Amino acid sequence: MAVAPMLRRLVALLLGSAVLLDAQVPEENRANPRVPKVLVIATGGTIAGVQDAPGSLGGYRAGTLTAEQIIASVPELTRFAQIETEQFSNVPSTSITPAQWLALSKRVEQVLTDRKDLAGVVVTHGTDRLEETAFFLYLTVRSDKPVIVVGAQRPATGISPDGPINLLAAVRVAAAPQAVGKGVMVVMDDRIISAREVRKLYQRTGGFSGGEMGMLGVVGGNGPDFLYTPTRRHGKTSEFDLRQVDSLPRVELAYSYPGGTGPRYDTPPAGVAVASNGMTRAESDVYTALRRAGVVVVTVFAYGDNMSAARDPDAPRPEPRPATTGDAMRTDSTRAPQQPPAPPMITAQHLTPAKARILLMVALTKTRDPLEIQRYFLRY
Ligand code: ASP
Repeated sequence: MAVAPMLRRLVALLLGSAVLLDAQVPEENRANPRVPKVLVIATGGTIAGVQDAPGSLGGYRAGTLTAEQIIASVPELTRFAQIETEQFSNVPSTSITPAQWLALSKRVEQVLTDRKDLAGVVVTHGTDRLEETAFFLYLTVRSDKPVIVVGAQRPATGISPDGPINLLAAVRVAAAPQAVGKGVMVVMDDRIISAREVRKLYQRTGGFSGGEMGMLGVVGGNGPDFLYTPTRRHGKTSEFDLRQVDSLPRVELAYSYPGGTGPRYDTPPAGVAVASNGMTRAESDVYTALRRAGVVVVTVFAYGDNMSAARDPDAPRPEPRPATTGDAMRTDSTRAPQQPPAPPMITAQHLTPAKARILLMVALTKTRDPLEIQRYFLRY
């Protein structure tokens, strides 16, 4: 380690976190041409959080430190990358909306396209909405270069903050050639997790999980070690070019439950993602009516790990079963006249409800045809 960062650390330890607010990364380290260039785009969150009583376990304001201040608190970063910073916003992630997803995605794609010298991008973000932003970027940033989303569960000025080590790990992944083509990833607590699968399970360190299928690797002392790679479309192979898209379609999220009667909308949305392991009759009638009215409906298992139910619209259909006497009895003339079938319901594969909603929003920028949208849900 260079002497200057060591001294800085010593002073920081002696004087407490007030130093964090003034620290700057020395120019000579930033320009170190032996290490790759990484752009850190800061959006806010607890990783930029400052307490009224620094060094305590007390409350804090998320989104207070600037991108420059955050990186200055981790001098070791400069051993692995030449860091540039950009302040996209400085807010708690509960203030991040689909409009910000769109602006951030366009910015990240543009910078990775224009700046051939950048190895990758790190986005610092509040953890409450981190998985949604990460998945949106996964679907829409059409680049092979690594984009790493990172946050912290403890504020920067608290006892044992996790932000600095998470940021260091994120930058090491963004700078690593092995990370190319792996899509947008979340790096938290030494885990490298695909943005497609990542979820925040709890509000303590270690709370980000890849579930059954999302862990791609780990970051150890020697840097990132990958074991897996996502096979669903993302990044460079994404069909979602949002450069001409100004806003995302309105898609609601609904929950099915015992005794549920389904949502009522004054103005129907373009789509609904329904968290459901199986609907009541009343819910099923509501979603059928919505589909007849042109609303695209996706069903998704509440915990996000369901895989088997999606029907591939392009798969060969089985031969129709020959009619039997029983069939003849069931089609007797006393039955009410049949309505034409409603447009099909779409099935999400291995996505959480929040992410099924995002894929539906993105798919609706291309088409309203449910069969086409089902194909997207099988590809991404
Ligand atoms: N409320 C914070 C946020 O999401 C929580 C965090 O970052 O952990 O911005």
